[in-house]
Amino acid sequence: MGPGTEERECKSGHVDTPALTLNDGHEIPQLGFGVFQIPPAETAHAVREALAVGYRHIDTAQMYGNEGGVGQAVRESGLDRSEVFITSKLNNDNHRRADARRSFAETLELLGTDHVDLFLIHWPLPTRYDGDFVSTWQALVELRDEGRARSIGVSNFQPAHLDRLAAASGVLPAVNQIEVHPFFGNRAVRAVSAAAGILTEAWSPIAKGQVAQDATIREIATSLGRTPAQVTLRWHLQHGHIVFPKTTKAERMRENADVFDFALSADDMATIDGLDRGAEGRLGPDPDTFDRIG
Ligand code: NDP
Repeated sequence: MGPGTEERECKSGHVDTPALTLNDGHEIPQLGFGVFQIPPAETAHAVREALAVGYRHIDTAQMYGNEGGVGQAVRESGLDRSEVFITSKLNNDNHRRADARRSFAETLELLGTDHVDLFLIHWPLPTRYDGDFVSTWQALVELRDEGRARSIGVSNFQPAHLDRLAAASGVLPAVNQIEVHPFFGNRAVRAVSAAAGILTEAWSPIAKGQVAQDATIREIATSLGRTPAQVTLRWHLQHGHIVFPKTTKAERMRENADVFDFALSADDMATIDGLDRGAEGRLGPDPDTFDRIG
């Protein structure tokens, strides 16, 4: 069986989350909790609630400024470090090797841990650093070899960027974290990743809440006695994506995690696939041109 095809149930709190197998042999809970745009002062509280609900996978980033809150919540949860899968990402101003190593040490310090489970290059920035994201990737390979990042991956990488990493370093990312939701299928990137054994992590999985207003998704949700967010998360899970919806509300944390006891039919999957608006459906920046540093 290829990477990601082997699923097993891992009992975690109140949520039985399937784990997918990465191309380096490590496992990742398919559902997690994202903390983008949660203010630093509120992050510990939100993550504490998410852990209490049963989430065991937290997605943060140096850019979010809230790694300290994530670390505090994990420490105070009483859970063993090994029970929580933590991802962070390299900030755009830290792409040079020395900056990557220094900032990674700060990430571990803020998280209060001696390793992260997954560390990603947040953006490829093809128009910065003389277009060199390969040496940044090699810095992440070093962190992996030192055991301080169990798995390494990328975010917002386009097919050409993935090809270049593979050719230049021979080390494939374990995941590519990209924008995917019903209105932006990002199909070419998903297809290239799947062919290479790189799992897709879908960011903004519920289109920043916009799926709740979509008539088609609402109709499917009503027919199943579910909510639009649940139907959309189920669509991702059945496509094999890893997801980490963000919310600061405990009720929605429970709603978003309650997605493992129903399934969408092939027809419903195809109907949601059909909502893809291509590039017009993008909510975030285009990785080929995005160049914000700092
Ligand atoms: P999401 O698709 O997760 O949507 C979050 C929004 O939806 C919030 O406004 C939230 O509001 C609302 N919401 C949450 N649950 C529900 C629900 N059940 N019904 C209706 N509305 C709901 O968007 P994000 O952009 O936050 O993406 C998720 C995660 O992906 C991030 O937290 C981050 O970890 C990652 N990410 C990564 C990026 C990258 O470049 N690598 C870029 C963007 C995100 P409220 O909080 O009020 O409930």
